Amino acid sequence: MTRVLVVEDEQHLAEGLRFNLEAEGYQVDVAETGEAGLELLGRESPGYDVVILDVMLPGKDGFTVMAEMRKSGLYVPTLMLTARGHPDDVLRGFAAGADDYLPKPFELAILIARIRGLLRRREWLHASLHQAPANAHPPQEPKDQFSFGEKAVSFDLLELRVRDKVFPLTLMEANVLRYLIRHEGRPVSRKAMLEEVWGLHEDTDTRAIDNFIVRLRRYLEDDPTHPRHLLTVRGVGYRFVASPAETARP
Ligand code: CA
Repeated sequence: MTRVLVVEDEQHLAEGLRFNLEAEGYQVDVAETGEAGLELLGRESPGYDVVILDVMLPGKDGFTVMAEMRKSGLYVPTLMLTARGHPDDVLRGFAAGADDYLPKPFELAILIARIRGLLRRREWLHASLHQAPANAHPPQEPKDQFSFGEKAVSFDLLELRVRDKVFPLTLMEANVLRYLIRHEGRPVSRKAMLEEVWGLHEDTDTRAIDNFIVRLRRYLEDDPTHPRHLLTVRGVGYRFVASPAETARP
């Protein structure tokens, strides 16, 4: 059964979410503080499939909780509830590791559609993990993998290997990278990425994308300040280059 954790201190809203998500067939737990949410995330087994995390919480706020989740290796897809009229919240949320966001107040139907979207993107991960143990010997070639140079990204294991280093990717980092790789060699706009990767059509601040690019560059560029794979296309967005021409560099 799909498990959802709602971290929200407004009881009225939290219970409304529980009622409606349970009606959708999800199993729902509610935490009223970030601290309680982190404790449940660390303790519950099997873990949660999706987290709905409010920004405004007593004690640790949503951004702090988000950052602590990712830092402690909890990569569960997370949707943040942000305050309308605070566009910087979206940027901060993404910077902290959120996968998606929804400004309050929101339409319940939209929230449920977003949750379904996050679960869909996660389904293939579950399927592949259950088919083959991750530590099987000899190592099996992951089905959903893309290699370039000495780097390989595995979309079913959600990790990027750079020589002997392994960087775990969040779901949305992997999806951004997948989108760029799919358009290899061609410029893609920030707006197109927000629409295609997140399904966002409203007026979202397109700088949200830049956080993901900064993070991905840190993993896959030898020198993130002089990127060779994830190039900025001025006035447009970004372009992924799998095999940069071997040019003499100073
Ligand atoms: Ca709240």
